[in-house]
Parts: sequence; C-alpha cells; structure tokens
Amino acid sequence: MKIDGTLYNYYKKYSTLYKNKSQLIRVISENWFRDNMYCPFCTREKINAYNNNHPVADFFCDFCGEEFQLKSKKQKLSNIVVDGEYYKMMDAIYSNSVPNFLFMSYSSKFDSICDLLIIPKEFIVPGIIQKRKPLSNFARRSGWTGCNIILENIPDAGKVFAIKNRNVINMVEVRASIERIAFYREIKEIERRGWIIDILNVIARIKKEVFNLKDVYTYVPYLKSLHPNNNNIEAKIRQQLQILRDNGIIEFLGRGVYKKI
Ligand SMILES: [Zn+2]
Repeated sequence: MKIDGTLYNYYKKYSTLYKNKSQLIRVISENWFRDNMYCPFCTREKINAYNNNHPVADFFCDFCGEEFQLKSKKQKLSNIVVDGEYYKMMDAIYSNSVPNFLFMSYSSKFDSICDLLIIPKEFIVPGIIQKRKPLSNFARRSGWTGCNIILENIPDAGKVFAIKNRNVINMVEVRASIERIAFYREIKEIERRGWIIDILNVIARIKKEVFNLKDVYTYVPYLKSLHPNNNNIEAKIRQQLQILRDNGIIEFLGRGVYKKI
C-alpha cells in the first residue's frame, strides 16, 4: 500500500471554508492524515481521530492503542520544533504517557507534503527537550515555560520517514524501520533508554563504518557531562554496545572493533 502525498484536493475543499490560515492548515493536515495514514506500529490501515480537545494526542490506533500527535509546518522541517508547556512534557515523559509524534511539512501552495516524519514516543526523552525562558512578568501568562523538541538529538533510528523530500516511502519499508527498533521500544525505564540514545548519537558522530572502542571512548567527557553521577562511563559504553550488537544495530568484528549495520 502506498499513501497519497498530495494535498491539493484538501486545499480546494477547505480553503473557502476557513479564512484563518492556521485553522485551515490544521484542517487540511488532519483530514489528510485521517484519510491516508496507516498505523506504523501494527497492521491497521487506518488511524482514528479523537474527538475535539483530547489533552495529549489527536489520533489513535484502535487495534494496538498507540496514540499520535500531528504537528505541521510550511516548507522545511527545522531542527527545533516548538512544543507546549515544559513541565507538562517532562511529567508525560516520566509517566510514559507521551504520544508518538508526527511532523509534517507541506509545500507553500498546499499541493503536496514535503516530509512526514514519525518519532516513536520512546525517543522522546529528557535529552531532546529544551526548556525555553519563562514568559516575562509583563506577559499575560507570566511565568509560563514552554519547551522545544530538538530533532538533531534524536538518533537516525528514531526518525522514521513516511514521506521524504516528496517521496512516499512504502508502508512495508516504514514498518520494517519500526520493527528494527522494537527492542528499544520495549525498554520502559527512561534512564536506560537515554543511555542507548546517547550511544547511538555518539556512533553517528563517528564518521566511519568500522570503528573501535577507542573512537567511542573519545566521547567519555561528553557522556560524563550528560551523566555526571556515573563513575564508570567506559563500562556503561561497553554494555550499551553489547545491547546494540544483540539487537542487530552494530556488528562485533572482534578485538574491540565494531561495524555499523
Ligand atoms: Zn496500530
């Protein structure tokens, strides 16, 4: 099954009904999503919309129960996505109630979707959330603190494109990418998830297909800055590499040499 990445018919249908631009964008993207999008996590070919004003998510799968929040943006996806209240987001992360995020970017003429990026909820960890400055005393919501989602801090394995540069990726391929990270999605403790993400990010920064333990150890100071209370970062690194090996993300070539798969 291949979804249809065009928006023009939705634009034609709704542009005369909604004069407010942001409302129009919301209606177009949500209707497209409801009509076209399949569940990336199971075999369901449709996703359902919640009735108005559900607190965290806009959509859900009635088979596997996954929830989705859709955010759309004109033209390119940027590295920083502005999100809602910071403390609410952190609470949701620690109580395992964040929805899966979908980031959509669309062409300025509303004729097509440029990108549709799926971020499985397990990749939404404290390390990718940036706290914004609280609103000033003069603001109407004085003291309110928002947050940003920093996409570049999410490892590539956690960024699954359903549409990329206007190319619709085949559903089978999308589900295979999700299947590849199934082991990670089963980890419930935020701390353990954070470590795997950090090591995946370190591996991504090593610009070689075959690398050794020394290359990874170069990042000990960086990892120490993220985990100041851990006094045995090297052991932690080796443990994470083993987890990644056991789950087919890297290969051990022996004698501290690894290969990206
Ligand atoms: Zn599902």
